[in-house]
Amino acid sequence: MAQSSHPKLPSVLPSIPAIQDVETTPEQVNAGLARVTNPTETPIYICAMQSCYRLFPSKERLMQHRKRDHDSEDEEDIITWNE
Ligand SMILES: [Zn+2]
Repeated sequence: MAQSSHPKLPSVLPSIPAIQDVETTPEQVNAGLARVTNPTETPIYICAMQSCYRLFPSKERLMQHRKRDHDSEDEEDIITWNE
């Protein structure tokens, strides 16, 4: 069904230096490596705690990581377009 509102991510995300892609061939690019997706097809949950910025496919996975790696069950500092 149609989304009730447009997906949203923060307009500013942390940046890192870009690295040149030396592996992708012109054939792969022309075959269509990239496509438009949406929150239902591609859930995105980013741990924004302590400049972590690891990406997870579900909130459950993010919270498992957070408990293990940050020793926290805090549900703040999550960047997502799914909620
Ligand atoms: Zn984290």
